[in-house]
Amino acid sequence: TGAAYLTGLIGAGIGPSLSPALHEREADRHGLRLLYRVIDIDRLGLGPEAVGELVRAARSLGFDGLNITHPCKQLVIEHLDELSPGAAALGAVNTVVFRDGRAVGHNTDVTGFARSFARGLPGVPTGRVVQLGAGGAGAAVAHALLTLGTDRLALADTDHARAVALATALNAHFGPGRASALPGRDLAGRLARADGLVHATPTGMAGHPGLPLPAGLLRPGLWVAEVVYRPLDTELVRRARELGCATLDGGAMAVFQAADAFRLFTGLEPHPDRMLDDFADL
Ligand code: NAD
Repeated sequence: TGAAYLTGLIGAGIGPSLSPALHEREADRHGLRLLYRVIDIDRLGLGPEAVGELVRAARSLGFDGLNITHPCKQLVIEHLDELSPGAAALGAVNTVVFRDGRAVGHNTDVTGFARSFARGLPGVPTGRVVQLGAGGAGAAVAHALLTLGTDRLALADTDHARAVALATALNAHFGPGRASALPGRDLAGRLARADGLVHATPTGMAGHPGLPLPAGLLRPGLWVAEVVYRPLDTELVRRARELGCATLDGGAMAVFQAADAFRLFTGLEPHPDRMLDDFADL
């Protein structure tokens, strides 16, 4: 019998993506045939706006679904028939499912972060959170935190206007006063009273080593969630762990966004532990 699925990823510079291996290995464990193709607009010599044409082509060629990444997560929206409530609220899509002639957009960065957080930091208090970074990943993570019950989310970004814009959008959706933009000078005071710190800037990646904040602002008792996943052990995660903080690395979000997309593509329940092991060996 054996159902067969055709899926893929559209984005720029995605040659090294781990998504094909994560999806195909998980499909193997379910005894499914699933192919996951990388459709790199840079390699094709196309601009980001080509995402519409590529989505239509994939649908015509019988794809079951697609992941969408930078720089196409917003541009793809006008080419879809319907959005999940979470994708509509965020205004960004990272997963498209083709079913019954319709293209439906979802955002598993939001759901994936929420699941990784619930599993990796179970039971931590989430009332007051400080988040560094209000870009693409930051917007997804902030939506997840407010959905998980954070009452006060303070957003700090070196580009303060981005923090203000994200806080405004979050308050319009989740209710006034839930999110605020935090000027850099107020970071120390706010962190001293926070339950946890979420990091969503590129600091700590191989090309941007170091810490995104002064080391002295970390303290035992503060939980720390990281989105950077190359490397998994960023300097922030290492320092926080040394202090005894509960930590969540960025690999968890990367794996759970893939797991949630796998569920949407196939209707089957993924095995996140196996996918986390795969991610660690890839
Ligand atoms: P982005 O460029 O959209 O946003 C980054 C933001 O951080 C910018 O607004 C920038 O002004 C701000 N910033 C930079 N340094 C700062 C500092 N020291 N303090 C405060 N703000 C600072 O980038 P993005 O797409 O949001 O990606 C950010 C990181 O998240 C990357 O490392 C990316 O690989 C990672 N990411 C991880 C996952 C995952 O699944 N784990 C998913 C998406 C992105």
